[in-house]
Amino acid sequence: MSVELNLAKIKQNLPPHVTLVAVSKLNPVEKAAQAYAAGQRVFAENRVQELLEKYQALPKDIAWHLIGHLQSNKVKPIAPFIAIIESVDSAKLLAEINLEAGKHNRKIAVLFQMKIAQEESKYGLTEAELEALISAYQNGEYPNVVLKGLMGMASFSDDEAQVAAEFKLLKSKFDHYNGQGLGLEVLSMGMSNDYQLAIACGANSVRIGSAIFKD
Ligand SMILES: *Cc1c(COP(=O)(O)O)cnc(C)c1O
Repeated sequence: MSVELNLAKIKQNLPPHVTLVAVSKLNPVEKAAQAYAAGQRVFAENRVQELLEKYQALPKDIAWHLIGHLQSNKVKPIAPFIAIIESVDSAKLLAEINLEAGKHNRKIAVLFQMKIAQEESKYGLTEAELEALISAYQNGEYPNVVLKGLMGMASFSDDEAQVAAEFKLLKSKFDHYNGQGLGLEVLSMGMSNDYQLAIACGANSVRIGSAIFKD
């Protein structure tokens, strides 16, 4: 199927309150351009170099999200234009984003990524680190950053109960902090394999790559 048909099929099953983030990583610019032609305006990449290439090649009304683990020394080139950095997983990275945003007189929107998967390999803040980073943010330590919400990646597993439990853990954190008046808007969880389950568990932003860009 074409990118256009894949997108149409996914959108049919997406409730109106859910943002579809098209993950174009590992796909050529031409494929991303097909999604753009079909009306898609929110895209994500997980590597800075590939993000910069696509940013330069594609129309400028795209909102670009960074979703992969980001090294502090890679923030600078994306700081002028990035719409949201979804993968903030350390105070060091957040400090660098704050610094670079200030140089461009802008505030950069971020999500804090919490580690919800059982697997050892997944990046993300522990519950305690999340708590500490949110406190520091609330204390005004990062004035050029706007915390928009939380992001998580579930285990890569067929065990639906396990995956749902991980999504629900992040949803409970989201509700907890909003109960404290933090005003978080974005709960980013779910990928091609598990986005319907993620939405059922409270996601309002899904990051979908292969289901859009497969042939
Ligand atoms: C690659 C990636 C996705 C998209 O995965 P698909 O299975 O291709 O939909 C979503 N989130 C993150 C963080 C990714 O790295």
